[in-house]
Amino acid sequence: MQIILFGAPGVGKGTQAKILSQKYNIKHISTGDILRESVARKTDLGIAAKEVMDSGDLVSDDLMGGLVKETLANMDYKAGFILDGFPRTLEQCNLMDGIFEELDIEKPFFILLKADTEVIVNRLTKRRLCSKCQTIVNLNDIADLNTCPNCNANDSFIERKDDKEEVIRKRLRIYREATLPVLDYYQEKYKVAILNGTDSVEMVTSNIEKVLTGND
Ligand code: AMP
Repeated sequence: MQIILFGAPGVGKGTQAKILSQKYNIKHISTGDILRESVARKTDLGIAAKEVMDSGDLVSDDLMGGLVKETLANMDYKAGFILDGFPRTLEQCNLMDGIFEELDIEKPFFILLKADTEVIVNRLTKRRLCSKCQTIVNLNDIADLNTCPNCNANDSFIERKDDKEEVIRKRLRIYREATLPVLDYYQEKYKVAILNGTDSVEMVTSNIEKVLTGND
């Protein structure tokens, strides 16, 4: 099963991808996570991407196409996967079509999660990463704002540089201008499922599963 999870930053793609990846035992490919790991490891890709990412801009299509191709080619992609964060431009759509054809990957499920801008801004400005156990938390959802609910570490939360409000608004603008045209492209080619990303996590998962099983 091949799934493309599509939607604005902060709409819940990563959360859903992690759940589905465990449930169906398929690999979660998050281009944002791969880039952040590359930045942390100071690889050539990470060095090239760091400033662009911190400022909320998009990394070049060439780099992204190469990264996705390499990731897929080095895994058992026939077993299925969830793509989270790619394609993000029309050029990336072309690159993806080429990669899928070359690797003989079947037509993916294309799922769009939607949410209003202000809901996303609120979610992302409250998003934190526990530096001890890497759990992502939202300050809206936890009682003790200084303690990680997963590992109980104190004062361990860090904020992503691109989760500052002005950078979030820039990322959302780029999403509208550069990424949303991808939706039209796919709507012409495939059936696209459009789901509400502001429902509860469980409800969104259940709605995605209805799409995957053809019961939507
Ligand atoms: P994300 O975690 O998906 O929000 O991605 C974080 C950042 O990584 C984005 O703001 C971009 O700078 C970069 N990035 C991730 N995926 C892509 C992509 N497909 N194309 C270009 N830049 C990307």
